[in-house]
Amino acid sequence: MMLKVNAHTRICGIIGDPVEHSLSPEMHNAAFHARGLNYVYVAFRVPASRLGAAVAAIRHLDLVGVNVTIPHKETVLAHLDEVSEEARLTGAVNTVVRRDDRLIGYNTDGEGFLQALRAAGFVPAGRSALLLGAGGAARAVAVALARAGAASIAVANRTPARAERLAAWLADRLGVAARAVPWPGRDGARAGREALERADLVVHATPLGTYPDTSTGPDLAYECLRPGQLVFDLVYNPPETAFLARARAAGAGAVSGLEMLIHQGALAFELWTDQSPPLDTMRAALREALL
Ligand code: NAP
Repeated sequence: MMLKVNAHTRICGIIGDPVEHSLSPEMHNAAFHARGLNYVYVAFRVPASRLGAAVAAIRHLDLVGVNVTIPHKETVLAHLDEVSEEARLTGAVNTVVRRDDRLIGYNTDGEGFLQALRAAGFVPAGRSALLLGAGGAARAVAVALARAGAASIAVANRTPARAERLAAWLADRLGVAARAVPWPGRDGARAGREALERADLVVHATPLGTYPDTSTGPDLAYECLRPGQLVFDLVYNPPETAFLARARAAGAGAVSGLEMLIHQGALAFELWTDQSPPLDTMRAALREALL
């Protein structure tokens, strides 16, 4: 793909440390090209000590905006003029938009997750969910599910205290029926296995199964999965994980983290360009980058 960069080119990017592994440049540059936009998207490695200066540069260099990744998703909030409701609730920003001199922070992870769910035909209102993991991604997903009217959210995590904290926070702040459950492993406690069996939606939100350790998915009582459930793996590399393959084999529906990555990127694209995102182009660019 030829990108024509000239004196009119508008600049977007991603700030993080590390950022070399990011697939967002491929996805967004393909999208800009498909829409005939004179935009370019680049990766900026920004160590924690330079976050303030890097955010100031968005204003000074007239950038359109940036995505924000590890380790800045939480700390960037203090440097912004305004944050969206989702970003405030999750305590994390993954997209910054410059509007004149103001920097506005959004979190498109949760809404990207919901769009991927809806595209798979799953409506979260009134349904039960089990989250496997209690980190930043699990929190963004939980907030999105609660706001979309999920009936209940169970949280299981390697470190149980973190699952308890997240569940208590969800119940207290968002009024959703949330509880911590034991990890539903092969030899796990019955309460965890029951939560796995009963959930309409099971979301895996740990890095287990990510390239290069692709053979080691989470330790789960896979025999509890069943037809009628939807299983969502936030891991996107590889797009088809061992976890998803086992869920499919048990008759459950399965959605790849690649779909969430596409939809969170699509929402950022819309915020930066006011144009509809070319989803198929973005998906193809990511798949090619992952080959
Ligand atoms: P995080 O905040 O660091 O949380 C990591 C979570 O994984 C914690 O619950 C942690 O449990 C658990 N964990 C880590 N290593 C584990 C292990 N060896 N065994 C069991 N549990 C383990 O990370 P995050 O930002 O939430 O990201 C989680 C995953 O989601 C990553 O793979 C990330 O790439 C993916 N993600 C995907 C998208 C997408 O668009 N598809 C978006 C965001 C994130 P403890 O609390 O016990 O440490």
